[in-house]
Amino acid sequence: MTVCAIIPAAGQGNRMGSPIPKQFLELDGKPILEHTLSAFQECGEVDSVILVVPEREVESTSKDYLGKVPIVHQVVAGGEKRQDSVYCGMQALPKGVDLVLVHDAVRPFVEIKIICNVLEAAEEHGAAITAIPVNDTLKRANTENFVETTVSRENLWRVQTPQGFKVELLLSAFRKAFAEGFYGTDEGAVVEYFGKPVKIVNGSELNIKITRPEDLVLGNQILQWTKKKSQAQTSVNK
Ligand code: C5P
Repeated sequence: MTVCAIIPAAGQGNRMGSPIPKQFLELDGKPILEHTLSAFQECGEVDSVILVVPEREVESTSKDYLGKVPIVHQVVAGGEKRQDSVYCGMQALPKGVDLVLVHDAVRPFVEIKIICNVLEAAEEHGAAITAIPVNDTLKRANTENFVETTVSRENLWRVQTPQGFKVELLLSAFRKAFAEGFYGTDEGAVVEYFGKPVKIVNGSELNIKITRPEDLVLGNQILQWTKKKSQAQTSVNK
């Protein structure tokens, strides 16, 4: 089974309020994108990665990563919406890929175990997404912010990436979506629109999406915590 991961990193990151797109901001002295790439490089189950970046960043990103991070196969320009960017990545898939993973560049704390679980579920079911159960109380409000109703959280999930798909399924789903003008906020939604089942795999509370400045603070804490945990593990193993 040959696996390629598409990493969309072509967003402008307007909610971060920084002139640098958030995927290029640093955590612990390394761009967020580099942390994310390390997980896929170390995983051992992923054969190649396609990085999708803003058009103006293609040259510099290619210089930084192509030939330097061995798993990076190609750097391509993204599009206006996330779905456009992932589709641009799909056009660059190497020949013979069976499964494609899609993972937000701005989720640098993805665990290798979760990547493997998604791949396994995608191989079995055709499409698999990562998610965590909703544990807050949910309200629907009117436009004046008065509560209209409390929504049951039973069977509700907060969706993350990675998401995994058989290549032909995702390509067919994309073609239908673009032909009919459907845009989803994740690839799972595109496959749902295509009418095929999508399996949920348990994600992690640590797999946060770095979106706002406060997420960088949280991100640094997660990084310190995971470092300490792996140091403790190493000393136990000695
Ligand atoms: O905007 P959102 O937070 O959903 O972005 C998730 C990921 O999709 C980010 O890594 C972002 O860079 C990427 N993206 C993209 N092309 C776009 C919009 C978002 O590659 N046009």
